Amino acid sequence: MIYLDYAADTPACQAALDALVGAAQTYGANPNASHALGQAARARLDAATQHIAELLGCQAEEWVLTSGATEANNMAILGVAHAYRSRGQHIITTHMEHASVTGAVMALKAEGYSVDFAQVDAQGQVDTAHLRSLLREDTLLVSVCAVDSEVGVMQPITAIREVLAGYPGCRLHVDATQAVGKLPLDLSGADLFTLSPHKFYGITGTGMLVVRGGLRLAPLWYGGTGATPYRSGTPALALTLACEAALQEALAHLPERLAAVRMLQARLRAGLAALPFVTLNTPADASPYTLNVSVHGLRARELIALLSERGVCVSSKSACCAPAAPSHPVLAMTGDRKRAMNTVRLSLSHLTTGEEIDSCLRIFTECAYSLEVARG
Ligand code: PMP
Repeated sequence: MIYLDYAADTPACQAALDALVGAAQTYGANPNASHALGQAARARLDAATQHIAELLGCQAEEWVLTSGATEANNMAILGVAHAYRSRGQHIITTHMEHASVTGAVMALKAEGYSVDFAQVDAQGQVDTAHLRSLLREDTLLVSVCAVDSEVGVMQPITAIREVLAGYPGCRLHVDATQAVGKLPLDLSGADLFTLSPHKFYGITGTGMLVVRGGLRLAPLWYGGTGATPYRSGTPALALTLACEAALQEALAHLPERLAAVRMLQARLRAGLAALPFVTLNTPADASPYTLNVSVHGLRARELIALLSERGVCVSSKSACCAPAAPSHPVLAMTGDRKRAMNTVRLSLSHLTTGEEIDSCLRIFTECAYSLEVARG
């Protein structure tokens, strides 16, 4: 099996699994309990909370464990919009965003908030002049991804922050799910940012939101402040320790993993670019972890199914998109609906080998030609 869908999910690393199992077995107590085992769990939770904050560049009380990036994005967007509703009801986002961002924003639109989409250029980057023209006195939030999930475009977060400088009431939320643990990042300009440990070998079902500077968030659900003021429920010590382990390991190995993936991307890119029925959608300066292409003269969905039969696992878009919908990022970048309907996303890891890339290229070519022949 050749797995090239690491943007969707990654296998858990041993350090995360050991932390998870070890904590679940050792601390079978609520860290909020006053008895001795509860207090032992509390001490371990506080140490991990502080350590994670250091790794993320925030204060211990500024990050929240969630069930994934989907929840974190909803918590950030709905939370800011509802908490600061009296200050304004205008939100700006882009067409490069994951469904958990656009879904939350569209839910606000249905409530009566006004929503604008900042344009992106042909390279997928936010047009900062257009963003500036959309800003209003009552703009509450700008939500932009650090790296999008389908094409892998890296957004100029520092430049975007600068555009917001004249709007102190406007917060910047960055969905950094495809970036944290994989790329060097400066998120000091973000008021809120989202990450998801299962994208860097943590446990699926965990995510995090960083909320800086005492920003208020209306809660997604109600039930006291057992975990943090932002989210109710029993603090999940074992999951927290698994996140700590995954984050520590990903950041410690980031440079060499990134270098290895850059080489793999170059090999895959060169191989696919040579095929006459392929157009590359991912710009050369994008995240090397993702390569998005459009195929011509055949249906991407059929090609992906055939690749899967031959043991090559790739996807069409983000796994959270409706299957029959075009790729919104590719459509926004190219304006070409046909191209956006026929995308294949291959996503890489340091676990990927050069041989896997070569086999993938061979099988990709064989499958594409067999589909072409079958269609006559
Ligand atoms: N944002 C981005 C950019 C993503 O790639 C994903 C996962 N595809 C999500 C959010 C949602 O992540 P999760 O599965 O952790 O909810």
